[in-house]
Parts: sequence; structure tokens; C-alpha cells
Amino acid sequence: MHTTKILGKRKKIALVAHDNKKVDLMEWAVHNKTALAKHELFATGTTGKLMEETLDRPVKKLLSGPLGGDQQIGAMIANGEIDMMFFFWDPMEAQPHDSDVKALLRLCVAWNIPMACDRATADFIMTSPFMHEEYETTIPDYSGYLNRKIKEE
Ligand code: PGA
Repeated sequence: MHTTKILGKRKKIALVAHDNKKVDLMEWAVHNKTALAKHELFATGTTGKLMEETLDRPVKKLLSGPLGGDQQIGAMIANGEIDMMFFFWDPMEAQPHDSDVKALLRLCVAWNIPMACDRATADFIMTSPFMHEEYETTIPDYSGYLNRKIKEE
């Protein structure tokens, strides 16, 4: 059971990188500058600032991740305002906002959002033919959950 939604040709892409992964994401972005130019970019504060400087193009910047930016992106995903996410998180260092990181990863799965957490996956997603065309995505149907019976005392 699910509903569908058409993702346009111009995708709404969320970009997030932890500090030790920012260089990695910037290098990847330079390599994919032409492809990224066709899409709309959103990012957590510091990642977005670096991305604007690196690509010399506007990026919609949210708050810095640990200050609520991860949750802002999560809210946009839940509202259907983000089509995919490139989230280079650091597997070697605990983050002050680990709970927000987990929540963001969870929401991507909950809403069937394509997500790349490393360069290889990001390359595979960016070179997918779906990046240049409309794509019918499935949105899980949570009506069963929403209409669940809550046991009375
Ligand atoms: P930042 O946040 O882009 O503001 O550094 C990244 C993150 O979510 O940790």
C-alpha cells in the first residue's frame, strides 16, 4: 500500500557533511558541478556556505546541523519538500547531535528518499537516468498507522 508522487526533472537535493567529511563532499561537488547545476540545492549552514563558495552558485542554507539544521531538513523531508539527500556523515567520530543524525537517516527511509552517505553511492545516484527525467516515486501509506486503534484504559 502506497501513494505515488512525481519528482520533477529539477530535483531538490539536500546536502549535509560532518566536519571531517566536508572536503570529501566539496571535491565530489566540484566533480559533479555541471550535473548539480540542473538541480536545486539545500544544505545545513556550514555545508551550504562552503558549497556556495565552492560551486559559486546559490544554495538554500538552513541552520547549522547541530543547531537544528538536521531537524529542519528532516521536517522538509516529512513535508515532501526534499527529493534526495547526500549526507556524508563521519563514521569515526561521535557527534554532539548524534540523535539528530539518526533521526534524519530514519526519516529518509520512512519517506523513501534516495540517500547517499558516501561518494560511491553519490556517484551512482548522480549518474542515474532518473536524475534527468521525471520519476514516479512511491510514498509509503501510513494511514493504517494513523488510524490505529489506541487501547482505552
Ligand atoms: P553543518 O552541519 O553543515 O552546519 O556543519 C552538518 C551537520 O549536520 O553536522
